[in-house]
Amino acid sequence: MDDAKGLALAIEEAKIGYQEGGVPIGAALIAADGRVLGRGHNMRVQNGNPILHGETSCLQNAGRLPSSAYQGSTMYTTLSPCDMCTGACLLYGVARVVVGENKTFLGGEAYLKQRGVEVVVLDSAECKDLMDKFIAEKPEIWNEDIGVEERVYSKEKH
Ligand SMILES: [Zn+2]
Repeated sequence: MDDAKGLALAIEEAKIGYQEGGVPIGAALIAADGRVLGRGHNMRVQNGNPILHGETSCLQNAGRLPSSAYQGSTMYTTLSPCDMCTGACLLYGVARVVVGENKTFLGGEAYLKQRGVEVVVLDSAECKDLMDKFIAEKPEIWNEDIGVEERVYSKEKH
């Protein structure tokens, strides 16, 4: 699948999340042959669930799959994946992670690359604008979602 099309699915999910009053981060998992295996969005607010981020929600919605299903797959996500979602992508052997933007938050991209995962950042203004709007409206929910008291850009030590 074309990366712009894959990201568009993730953005659709992020917008659904925003409309539900949640954290507007969405994801879509696309198989090597282009099939949509799953899609989802952050459900922290909606379900009171701290582990359903965009990517983990997407993996949950994709359901139980044989490991071969993840081979050559691409995880499209509207925002740079946090440590938890980075780990989930590594665990299942996702081959590529395509990121909408990493200006709001920089997650585990370096670790993904170190582990042989291809990382592509599309610098999507649409993704960043959605996060800017959400963080301006509900800064405390964003901080809670990434496990901090005050806003940080990255959890990596510099
Ligand atoms: Zn995450």
